[in-house]
Amino acid sequence: MKLTIIGCSGSFPGPDSPASCYVVEAEGFRMLLDFGNGSLGTLQRHIGLYDVDAICLSHLHGDHCLDLCAYHVVRTYSPQGPFPRVPVYAPADAPGRLAAAYGMPDEPGLETAFNFIALSPGTVDIGPFEVTSALMNHPVEAYGFRVAHGGRSMTYSGDTGETPELIRLAKDTDLFLCEASFQDQPNLPPDIHLSGRQAAEAAVRAGAGSLVLTHLVPWFDSSRIYEDAIRVGFDGPVTLARTGAAYDLGAAPA
Ligand SMILES: [Zn+2]
Ligand SMILES: [Zn+2]
Repeated sequence: MKLTIIGCSGSFPGPDSPASCYVVEAEGFRMLLDFGNGSLGTLQRHIGLYDVDAICLSHLHGDHCLDLCAYHVVRTYSPQGPFPRVPVYAPADAPGRLAAAYGMPDEPGLETAFNFIALSPGTVDIGPFEVTSALMNHPVEAYGFRVAHGGRSMTYSGDTGETPELIRLAKDTDLFLCEASFQDQPNLPPDIHLSGRQAAEAAVRAGAGSLVLTHLVPWFDSSRIYEDAIRVGFDGPVTLARTGAAYDLGAAPA
């Protein structure tokens, strides 16, 4: 299983990265986790334009889902198309919300390109992956995802404030891709995002193997976020997400 960071900019695209988008790949199957604004462009540096096999949207804030509208154009109107519909696992409101964002009536909405499947907490098989979804702590219906393959796992927080659900989801995961939107300070707003410190504390509690800090908001200095995380003393490697970075999780030793 290989993870490639396409977009890691939090809340809006930055000068060096689109908003949230990640590719998880195994056995030739490519699944996107989130499809935030700007990510469709950068995605084409890493995989073919039509080579998306499944999409999971953590929630319906624009910085996690809006490029699905652009990708609808790609699959529906390409001179080589139309292409087969891609399954999109997303909150139940996604078909209506994204049709409205693109200016389409609810019928057919974006269904020419996508087969929407409503998320709920639990585990489903998507291609070669076992994907577990859990509700996070954010002002809208929002999910974190744990993706397992070949005895390895990675866990993505999506957007969340502190919650025991995140610790449960990331328990003993090999790679923990966790949002770190805030610089640490007293009286952080609750129930919306994490700081670098809170992300590292979650990694400690979950017993994660490594921590990748993401959803880095351009108005903050990400080296501060990294220092906030390092001070916690998590004993695995900690890195800041950057667009183009790839992590090979391989398969667990037999
Ligand atoms: Zn976000
Ligand atoms: Zn959000």
